[in-house]
Amino acid sequence: EAACASSDIEVVPLRVKYPQGAEKQLICAISGREVPSGGLPMDVGVLVQNVRTAAAVSVAVRTGQPLIEQVVTVTGPGVAEPKNLRVRIGTPLRHLIDFCGGFDGEPGKIILGGPMMGTAQLSLEVPVTRGAGGLLIFRQQDVDPRPEGPCIRCGRCVSVCPARILPTTIVAHARHDQIETAETLGVLDCIECGCCTYICPSMIPLVQFIRQAKGAIMAQKRNA
Ligand code: SF4
Ligand code: SF4
Repeated sequence: EAACASSDIEVVPLRVKYPQGAEKQLICAISGREVPSGGLPMDVGVLVQNVRTAAAVSVAVRTGQPLIEQVVTVTGPGVAEPKNLRVRIGTPLRHLIDFCGGFDGEPGKIILGGPMMGTAQLSLEVPVTRGAGGLLIFRQQDVDPRPEGPCIRCGRCVSVCPARILPTTIVAHARHDQIETAETLGVLDCIECGCCTYICPSMIPLVQFIRQAKGAIMAQKRNA
């Protein structure tokens, strides 16, 4: 804040809540402007750059070095010595876990990314990718073993959705490859925050189906 005193830069503290860091949520929280469905921040006169991107651009311009490293937080009850590591992009996950003293207990789930938006991994040979800021290791006893059940129409996924779309309805169509209908229902506005999956009492992996539908729509658009 001291560095901003003599400039027109302002530091804006925000309420701690999730999701808050996604582009559209940040713009709304700071400026009150709402990016329209299917629109971009520039439609409301805003450009969003995260600190890491700005720093990487600075390094690239000053030294010519492209982005080759990623800071990864290796944590969770299933790793012996949690650490923050700066690693080369492409390093297999196995090396990170070994560097952190290995597993503590029998691993039950390994998630690359954050607890809400990360994806479960089936192999430790998977490489660290750009943007993978976390590696979470859970033991078998930490993982909820309940299987997926039917939708009970409780509406919780709808109430928590920050994009104000209908996750349960979209997924009902996405499951049957009705991606045009899913698009009409606003699936592309989903920010993949994972709140719907987290809140669903029937353990339905809503965001996973939504991700697949978004991928299929984008692939169609690219090939059109
Ligand atoms: S992940 Fe679920 S809750 Fe989050 S924006 Fe997408 S549909 Fe809404
Ligand atoms: S939270 Fe789960 S059970 Fe409830 S309406 Fe949504 S999908 Fe159905």
